[in-house]
Formats: sequence, C-alpha cells, structure tokens
Amino acid sequence: MEFLPVFLNIKKQPCVVIGGGEVAARKVELLLRAGGDVVVVAPVCCAALQRHLQAGDIKHIAAEFAPEQLQACSLAIAATDDLAVNRRVSEVARARHIPVNVVDQPELCSFIMPSIIDRSPVMVAVSSGGASPVLARLLRARLETLIPASYGRLASLVQGFRDRVKQRFGHIDERRRFWEAVLQGPISEMMYAGREQAAHEALSQAVEHGLGVSANVGEVYLVGAGPGDPDLLTFRALRLLQQADVIVYDRLVSQEILDLARRDAERIYVGKERDHHTLPQEDINHLLARLAKEGKRVLRLKGGDPFIFGRGGEEIETLAQQGIPFQIVPGITAAAGCASYAGIPLTHRDYAQSVVFVTGHLRDGSVNLNWPALVQPQQTVVFYMGLKGLETIFAELIKHGMSPDMPAALVEQGTTQRQHVWIGTLTSLPEILRGQDVRAPTLIIVGAVVALHDKLKWFSPVS
Ligand code: SAH
Repeated sequence: MEFLPVFLNIKKQPCVVIGGGEVAARKVELLLRAGGDVVVVAPVCCAALQRHLQAGDIKHIAAEFAPEQLQACSLAIAATDDLAVNRRVSEVARARHIPVNVVDQPELCSFIMPSIIDRSPVMVAVSSGGASPVLARLLRARLETLIPASYGRLASLVQGFRDRVKQRFGHIDERRRFWEAVLQGPISEMMYAGREQAAHEALSQAVEHGLGVSANVGEVYLVGAGPGDPDLLTFRALRLLQQADVIVYDRLVSQEILDLARRDAERIYVGKERDHHTLPQEDINHLLARLAKEGKRVLRLKGGDPFIFGRGGEEIETLAQQGIPFQIVPGITAAAGCASYAGIPLTHRDYAQSVVFVTGHLRDGSVNLNWPALVQPQQTVVFYMGLKGLETIFAELIKHGMSPDMPAALVEQGTTQRQHVWIGTLTSLPEILRGQDVRAPTLIIVGAVVALHDKLKWFSPVS
C-alpha cells in the first residue's frame, strides 16, 4: 500500500492554503465543506476566492508564503504554480509534522486527496496513489452512475433508527440481517424514488413488527428504455436493470439495452409486433402482478417513455388495484431522441412555438385525428406509429389546409447505428419512400423546423 486511507476530521481546525488561483479555490471549497477554518495565503485572489472572502467564509493573508503562516495549523495545501514555493511549503510543513498536500506533486505530499463521490454521510474515495489522477477520476465517474443520488439520505434514515433497532434486536447477527434486508429491499427503493415519508413509515413498521410479509412481496419497476441508444438510459434505469430478477420487455427494446440487465435475470419477451401482439395487454398486466406476488423484483422495460403511447398507465392500474408496490422511471421518448439525432429542433423561436405528439395508427384503414388542431401555424407535429398511414395522414393534412410544400421527415430506427433520415415535403416524401425498404420503428415529423435538418444534422452512423 502506498498510502493509508483515512478520513480526517478538520471541523474548526485551522487549514492554510497557499495560492490564490482556481486550483486553490477548488481545494478551499472542499476544506469548507468539511468544516475547516480556512486561511488563504496569496498576494492576489481569483474571483471564486474573492466571493468566499466577501461572504466571510475564509481569511486572507495578502502576502507571499512565509514559514510562520503555518504556525498552529492542522493542515496545509500548496496550490501555487511556483515550484520553489510549493517545495518550500512542503519542507516547512513536514519539518513540523503538519500534514501537507502539494497539488500535482505527489513526491512533495505527506497526504494526497482522492477523487470523491459525495453522498454525505456516505463518502467514497478513489485514489490511484498519485499514479494517474485521470484514471481515478474516470473510475469515480463510473461509480457515480451506480450509486443513487439519494444514498446519503438513505444513510441518514438508517442512522435515525439505529438505536431502536439495537433495542429491538439484541444480537449483532440479527441486526446485520435486518439491515441487509432493509438496504436491499423496497424501503431503500422508496428512498431512491424520493418517497421518503413512505420509507420512514415502512421502516418504522419493520422495526416494530419485523420485515415479515413485506420482505416477500416483490415490486414492479416500469422503466422507459429510451429510443434505442443505450447511452440514453437514465442512471436509475441502469441501476434497476442491474438488480431486477425478471425483465419483461417488448420489441422496441434493443439487445444492447437488454445486455445491461443482471446476467442471471430471467427475460420474458411479450412481443407486440404490429398487428399480431404476442401477449394481449390484459395478460401482460396480470403477468406483472403474478411475478411480483411471487416476491420478484420485476422490471417492465418499455421503449421510449412508458407514459407516451406506451400503455404504461394500464399496466400500472392493475398493480395499483392489487396493492403491489411499483415505481415509474421516465425515459427519453422517440420524438425527443429522433429529433435530436436528426438535427431537427422540435420547437424554434422562428418556426414553431408548440409541438404535438399524436399516434398515426391506422384503424380500419383510416386515421382518426383532430385534423384542424394539427394544421396550426408555428407548430410541429410528430406522428408515432405512422408509417403505414403516412399517405393518408399527409393527404388529410393538405385537405385541412396545410401547405403541400410543408417540410416532413421520416426517421427510421432513430438514435441507433441503423438510423436513416428521409427528408421531403408533404407531397414529395411519400414518393421518396416508395420502393424503399423502410424498417420499423419509424417516426414522422411535420413542420417548418424539418428544414433545419440540413444545417444541424450531426449524427451519421457508420452503416
Ligand atoms: N413509448 C414509446 C412509444 C411507443 S409507440 C416512446 O415514448 O417513444 C411505438 C412508436 O414509437 C413506433 O411506432 C415509432 O413511431 C416510435 N419509435 C419508438 N422508437 C423509435 C425509434 N428508435 N425510431 C423511430 N421511431 C421510434
């Protein structure tokens, strides 16, 4: 081991920072967050330090470094760009056994500062022992995505119950088992989802009456998987994917995203090809309820956002009726994903002040929509499920007064490596698409903003 990892209590302890630039300011921020009494030594201070000075957070010695400034200090940090000064600070501090850190010069340090993931009171520190701060930072970024933002809140909740749990469970093993069950079960999920009051009540119940039945009831996560590119998942979706026991998914969910699920999770395909649904909606609703009642953590993964043409509402209704706990994780809907990846802003100061999402699903060969509402000036209209009805839709728009020259786009398999964008007008796009082998899913965007594609397109997949 190169260094001994420790967490230092510097509350109200005098800490001296030598240097007045941005780097010094970042160290000062950290020291302040940990409650240190900070003195900055520098002829001039940068704007960030000035702000702290004005707020009265720090003291300032407007001078060059001198050894006596380190008198009675508990910790010293040198953050100047003058090597000689940094070295001098290090020598003086070490001679007096004051812990000293010199930014970017591990050989002059008696302690080094890790990259941190702050979920106070939980703190994760990552260090490469000075070998590669960038590597440590990258590792930190990966950990950030895995640790829920409210981890600290969870720790505080637990802290508040520690004494009661100690009284309730006499033996240390009992307590450990209790906390393990709490921290891996629905109570922690409630905290992550921001339902703190419910979590508090559930924990209170659990301490009184044991985890008992509630530990055996599973739960359902209704999760939006976004439009295709796995990078567009939310942190929460990724985390739940990695802990769910069963994944229930349909056609829109890409293999790359399924690959992110826990390796040993059961995967159930419930289909939904156009026109021949693999499992009727009714059965999906009951499947979710049944799996949860078996005590499983069930992740219902849906393309895009679960509440936008996703029938997420119906699936949840059944769960709500049966008292099964659930949570809903939004996703990037196809309109947002495809528009961004096609360089078509859905609204624009000059061209569109509103945007409408509608389904272009054909029923009995016709599309039943409120056409006058769609043919409004300065509005973008996005059609989900519209490929089959494209010609009918465009004919209706023209019939209701939209210009035949209105720009229109078809985005095929948006955000994926197979994305293809066709651009035309209400008149020309159906002709352009004739004879083309267009693959689902596709999205239609109609409006003046489509013309911006030429200027703003940026995403060009390899194939
Ligand atoms: N809940 C989903 C929509 C489900 S309806 C969401 O919020 O995106 C299915 C329709 O979504 C498809 O017919 C298609 O119109 C659209 N869609 C979904 N993903 C798409 C993608 N990657 N590219 C183009 N269209 C997509």
